[in-house]
Amino acid sequence: EETQPIPADADRERYGVLVDLIQKYRAAYYNDDAPLASDAEFDVLYTELETLEALHPELITNDSPTQTVGGEASVAFAAVDHLARMYSLEDVFSLEELEAWLRKAEASVQKQHGLAPKWLTELKIDGLAVNLLYRDGVLVRAATRGDGFTGEDITHNVATIKDIPQRLHGTGFPAEVEIRGEVFIASKDFAELNEKMVAAGKAPFANPRNSAAGSLRQKDPAETAKRPLSMYVHGIGAREGLETTSQSETYAQLMEWGMPTSPYFKVLDTLEEVLEFIAHYGEHRHDLIHEIDGIVVKVDDFATQRALGNTSRVPRWAVAYKYPPEEVHTKLLDIRVNV
Ligand code: NAD
Repeated sequence: EETQPIPADADRERYGVLVDLIQKYRAAYYNDDAPLASDAEFDVLYTELETLEALHPELITNDSPTQTVGGEASVAFAAVDHLARMYSLEDVFSLEELEAWLRKAEASVQKQHGLAPKWLTELKIDGLAVNLLYRDGVLVRAATRGDGFTGEDITHNVATIKDIPQRLHGTGFPAEVEIRGEVFIASKDFAELNEKMVAAGKAPFANPRNSAAGSLRQKDPAETAKRPLSMYVHGIGAREGLETTSQSETYAQLMEWGMPTSPYFKVLDTLEEVLEFIAHYGEHRHDLIHEIDGIVVKVDDFATQRALGNTSRVPRWAVAYKYPPEEVHTKLLDIRVNV
């Protein structure tokens, strides 16, 4: 049954409300590490904004949340420009949407290269992205993602994370490479950390993601050193002298150099295999080392990644499938979050 079209004024007004709310939630999440809403609640607002923009493209501005990567560098840290931009990921929330996305990408790759892409399928770690710059095998700088152009200099804090080598192991290092990954707190470590907080009469952390972000963004690295932070690599930015030609080959190389790579990724040939991977981890998501909020599917081959390119916010060669939320924490506002 057709409903009355909503007057443009009402849409415009709703649009303004959504942008303000999303920006407020982003600031709390990225800058304060203290979310004001659950991820599911945030995603509902974000999807509504996308729908409104699809309906009224004239509303879209360059600084709309759909055109930008969330999070701006806090003044508490020195600002660092990334050599290559850091992107977010396009989200899909149903298997039908994922299937449509993969088929479209596959058709576009087939057309350009005459070959179907291989899908590097991995877990979407619920942590925060870091960018590690290695020159001749030596870690010279570490930064948060920030708005994707400029992040926060967290070199001294990252130096306290045992998983991250200050010097790569072995030989044959590229002159310059940005290694990106997710810093997180493992589920077991998170439980122990919260037990300690409670034993010390302090409020427990709300969730591993925000405690990881808060721990990494401490002004005093000695505080960061007390937190059980881990990391897995999931990407590469600027590279000079890196010879690998695919994401999976790069992971193998990085593992040899002593970088922490995830044990969970697979290179898959078909959509059916990707769906199986998703079903498997949907069932086993609580048997993993860390929390996940979905699965990331990437075109494995670098030349194909380059050919597909990026939008202003996300790569066109990767997609994040988000599992349905298990419960909506509407009480989150009541929890005092420690950072
Ligand atoms: P995103 O978290 O959906 O996806 C991009 C990020 O995923 C990357 O930057 C990277 O850090 C991470 N990632 C984890 N595993 C990865 C892997 N294997 N490969 C590549 N990247 C991987 O996007 P976003 O722009 O950072 O944030 C949007 C999401 O953050 C929202 O959908 C919501 O879930 C959450 N958020 C929540 C609130 C809130 O108020 N609760 C506010 C803002 C954002």
